[in-house]
Amino acid sequence: MTEIAMDKTYYVSLLERLSNAFGPSNYEDDVRTLIAETIKPWVKDIRQDALGNLIAFRPGTNGKRLMLDAHTDEIGIMVRHIDSRGFLRFATIGGWDDRMFPGHRVTFKSRDGRFYHGVIGMTPPHVLPPAQREKAIAAEDYFVDLGAETADEAAALGASVGDPGTLSYPFMKLKDDVYLGKAFDDRVGCLTVISLLKALAEGDITTDMDVYANFATSEEVGLRGAGPAAFGIDPHVAIAFEGTIGSDFPGVPEEKRPCAQRKGPVITIADKSVLVPRRMIDLMTDCARETGVPYQYKMPIYGGTNAGSIHMSRAGILAGCIATPCRYIHSPNTTLYWPDFENTLTLAKRVVSRAHELA
Ligand SMILES: [Zn+2]
Repeated sequence: MTEIAMDKTYYVSLLERLSNAFGPSNYEDDVRTLIAETIKPWVKDIRQDALGNLIAFRPGTNGKRLMLDAHTDEIGIMVRHIDSRGFLRFATIGGWDDRMFPGHRVTFKSRDGRFYHGVIGMTPPHVLPPAQREKAIAAEDYFVDLGAETADEAAALGASVGDPGTLSYPFMKLKDDVYLGKAFDDRVGCLTVISLLKALAEGDITTDMDVYANFATSEEVGLRGAGPAAFGIDPHVAIAFEGTIGSDFPGVPEEKRPCAQRKGPVITIADKSVLVPRRMIDLMTDCARETGVPYQYKMPIYGGTNAGSIHMSRAGILAGCIATPCRYIHSPNTTLYWPDFENTLTLAKRVVSRAHELA
């Protein structure tokens, strides 16, 4: 039994807490607090920058810097209007499919840190003219029912314009090795970077490079946090860790699947945000072959990751991305096949050990 298999309970429970933590873009305090408490024993320094990136540091010896990145934010919603009867209207934060919303439970966080809850409603079909019944409803036309009868009652629950919210479902085990959670994009990446810091601290892997772990803010609204963080860190090599679009399910033909669950870590060659330099792809591929884990390339040219904003920082930074395949990302419930995470971590450890070859 490998070390990680023995520690599975620890990692699964950490993923549960990470996924359940409230963290729409720019409101990731709960996620940062959990991460900072977890990694404190394994790093020399932790700081938070002006945007909300949480940056941890482990010194090396060769004067070269390695940046490991995972984003802390999840897609969410934001209160934009409260009517006299206490119904809320919301704006979207990040990339949603507007057809996803009706009937879901939502959790908002008030300005004074209280959570309040509601359900998303819509005009029922029997009231709509036939022509409109066929049309997709825009996010702005849904409403949220908090159970309040007046604007004052909504305010008493904590509601005010600008409150961030999520579609909120708790982590659960579907069956052995298959988990369901609201925010595996990208808390599974956070778990990967946390696990790498642990492996470095415990001597499971080593590197001569300075290691900077960036838990990035606001990826879901346009890769906003990682670029400025990379500017400050000025890394020689950077790797973003993600939860990505596993789409091996009904309705998606093989030639349109960015990647598949149960096929191991996903190496990015090219997406909409970055064309990864060949030597980075080659090193990752080499590491996958050495470790013997199954691996796959993400089908060009879907999606985008923080590697996109990192590689454009400063005078250009060598950046790549390794992701764990998750089904149904950008929905309230994402699935993860646990061995995909274990294999991602095995590959990531080897890549960290060999990253100096790229510096
Ligand atoms: Zn992501």
